[in-house]
Amino acid sequence: MTRAYLGTLAHLRRDPFQYPGALEIIERGALWVDERGRIVAFGDAGRIRRQLPPDAEIVDFGRAWLLPGLVDAHLHFPQYHVVAAANRGLLSWLRDSVYPAELAFRDPRYAAGVADALVSRLLRSGVTTAVMFGSQFPEATEALFEAARRRGLRLIAGITLMDRDGPEPLRTDPETAWRIAERLVQRYGDDPRLRYALTPRFALSCSPELLRMCGEFRRRYPQVYLQTHINETREEIAAVLRAFPDALHYLDVYDRFGLLGRRTLLAHNIHPQGSEMRALAESGSSVCHCPSSNLFLGSGLFPLRRHVQHGVPLAVGTDVGAGLHFWVWEELSECHKIQRLQGEAPTVAQLLHLVTLGAAQALALEAEIGNFAPGKAADFWVLDVAGDPYLDQRLRRCQSLEDQLFVLMHLARPDQCRAVFAAGRPCAGEAVES
Ligand SMILES: [Zn+2]
Repeated sequence: MTRAYLGTLAHLRRDPFQYPGALEIIERGALWVDERGRIVAFGDAGRIRRQLPPDAEIVDFGRAWLLPGLVDAHLHFPQYHVVAAANRGLLSWLRDSVYPAELAFRDPRYAAGVADALVSRLLRSGVTTAVMFGSQFPEATEALFEAARRRGLRLIAGITLMDRDGPEPLRTDPETAWRIAERLVQRYGDDPRLRYALTPRFALSCSPELLRMCGEFRRRYPQVYLQTHINETREEIAAVLRAFPDALHYLDVYDRFGLLGRRTLLAHNIHPQGSEMRALAESGSSVCHCPSSNLFLGSGLFPLRRHVQHGVPLAVGTDVGAGLHFWVWEELSECHKIQRLQGEAPTVAQLLHLVTLGAAQALALEAEIGNFAPGKAADFWVLDVAGDPYLDQRLRRCQSLEDQLFVLMHLARPDQCRAVFAAGRPCAGEAVES
């Protein structure tokens, strides 16, 4: 059935790093969605209501905010139970906390339970698209895809690949990795909301043969994504350059195996060289910034402005389990603080971009998601703070709707997500029976 959802609409018409007037907020707005879950139109509620067919259903969310579905562009499925592990930095944290937790996903029943819990948790907090490192165990990663398919989460994921470092059961040799990837690409290839991502953990945990396999697979199946980590800590960078002594820099390790390009997403990139930034931009690869993870592991302060100046597409991720929570919206507050420490201040529009339209562009999904443009999938969520007397009063004291949105980025909580829609279907919140 055709429906119109009423509330305060906020989204980006275009890239706010290039166009200052890109943010659009419509106080009494309406989002018109057809029976296929596609956006027909958006705008002033009175105008949209006059255009609706007579049998259209009106769903009025009052003063609540309607926002495009959030994109969490980097998190780790098998690290669900590692959040807030005591650590002495990235490499010891991997060894002491992460690898033991990831081994537990050998048990398919445990893995399926975590998959359900994680997917529900993301949807409940307005995340309609997630890019995830899957388990090294294929059955566990299949359980993740199945949970996403059942609940409507748009998912880009793949088995985490490593054949060096770490305990033996977590390692996959290149031939097996190819076979698993091929099987999963074929199994989920016809579902428009599911995509496979080759997922070499990072340069240190991969042999040249495994990285070569990823490059060859990509040439054979150009629709697949590739995700990995880069330039997270200085200790890690030094170790990578020792392991790959011929490489010009960290990025060059990936470049020489053909792993860069559109649909490549590199997490962190906190300490890039100038030549790496240029190579990144030229290749069309994207970077995912993970603010709370960077702070928790003490990895460094992300150079956001340098990425923007080089035209590198950017997204934001929670990086669970190095990140401390499951709500990517909260990352915007952390992102703001990290930039303030460097004397910068992203605008509210630029922050919103990183988890909506900008993230969609970074994932080559801008034709499908990211804002309320007609024809796109109706992936959106409803933020309602009416039950919070302090926040309600705080918002009433704002000078503008843009100021209100800024306050919400810092003070809203995931339980204030009242409803979530994926392709027009309610998939969490009040509209769904528990
Ligand atoms: Zn990560």
